[in-house]
Amino acid sequence: MSVSHSSRLNKGVREQYMKLSQEGMVQVTYVWIDGTGEGIRCKTKTLDYEPKSIEEVPEWNFGGSGTYQAENSNSDMYLVPVQVFRDPFCLDLNKLVMCEVLKYNRKSAETNLRHTCRQIMDMVADQHPWFGMEQEYTLLGINGRPYGWPENGFPGPQGPYYCGVGADKVYGRDIVECHYKACLYAGIKIYGTNAEVMPSQWEFQIGPCEGIDMGDHLWMARFILHRVCEDFGVVATLDPKPMNGNWNGSGCHTNYSTENMRKEGGLKHIEDAIEKLEKRHNYHICVYDPQGGKDNSRRLTGQNGISSIHEFSAGVANRDASIRIPRQVGQEGFGYFEDRRPAANCDPYAVTEALVRTTLLNERGSETKDYSKN
Ligand code: ADP
Ligand code: MN
Ligand code: MN
Ligand code: MN
Repeated sequence: MSVSHSSRLNKGVREQYMKLSQEGMVQVTYVWIDGTGEGIRCKTKTLDYEPKSIEEVPEWNFGGSGTYQAENSNSDMYLVPVQVFRDPFCLDLNKLVMCEVLKYNRKSAETNLRHTCRQIMDMVADQHPWFGMEQEYTLLGINGRPYGWPENGFPGPQGPYYCGVGADKVYGRDIVECHYKACLYAGIKIYGTNAEVMPSQWEFQIGPCEGIDMGDHLWMARFILHRVCEDFGVVATLDPKPMNGNWNGSGCHTNYSTENMRKEGGLKHIEDAIEKLEKRHNYHICVYDPQGGKDNSRRLTGQNGISSIHEFSAGVANRDASIRIPRQVGQEGFGYFEDRRPAANCDPYAVTEALVRTTLLNERGSETKDYSKN
């Protein structure tokens, strides 16, 4: 049996309690990124009113020693609410709230990369940067094998699975469809979804989102994915290369445009941006996974149509390159481009911040200016 114990609890019994009146109280689930920079944590509290805006959600705290976030004996960390969504699990009027984490001295926790991202996005707000991220992931049974794969042995080679249909082509569509609906209900800007190249591997896209919204929406969509998977008793992994060998890895392609790129003559601005990115390949690789490029090095092998971690490349309609200009964008002469390097477990705050620093703030080499003093 590769599904979890809790997923086999009697869900009919649960339904009776879910129907009970909340007597005007609202359950608010605070969601944050833990000390690994990848893991997501949550906890819930009752409010006696419905928060109508983020300002109406109070700050809260948690014990950092349980989340790899403690600093010395000062283990109390602050949760600062930044964006409210509807709760697709406990339903209206309950809420999910994305939070930033601050340390006891109210400085950002090490894995709170939203704080500087926000500053950078504010600096370039007049250029209206849009992002769209393609989150690839793989479903695992609780035995750690990709869900639906034979216990001993492997499915047939890749080929029939990408965008596939049929019980012998795709595994776990229930999860994908429930996640999609849950995101729509929550108010997340989900753009679409598809089955991926490796069996049990899937993708959803978030966007286009302007500025800081990209990170907020993708992190909450990841939370919802893990929570839906919990109901079904399987695990979603964002590992960039969950299976060794001739099995595709998982990325988080990041599509990007500014107002200038989206209007007539935009291709010139796209090419300018790519030129700047080319000169700063190593910096971007360092930022595009939580291990500074180590995780992504298992995926960006330079083989089987995947770009190499050591070389920068770009081209129209070129899916083997670091950067792709979509064919339609090449033809129309404006639009957006796609950075195919970020790993599936990247932090979208870090990725979007790096794109803006290089293409709009003209940083070079390993430079990262601290603009907070300005
Ligand atoms: P692919 O062909 O690479 O698989 P997808 O259809 O999976 O592309 O994803 C396309 C992504 O591009 C979506 O996340 C969408 O939000 C994003 N996108 C579309 N237009 C723009 C734009 N002008 N600027 C930034 N992102 C965009
Ligand atoms: Mn895609
Ligand atoms: Mn894909
Ligand atoms: Mn893509």
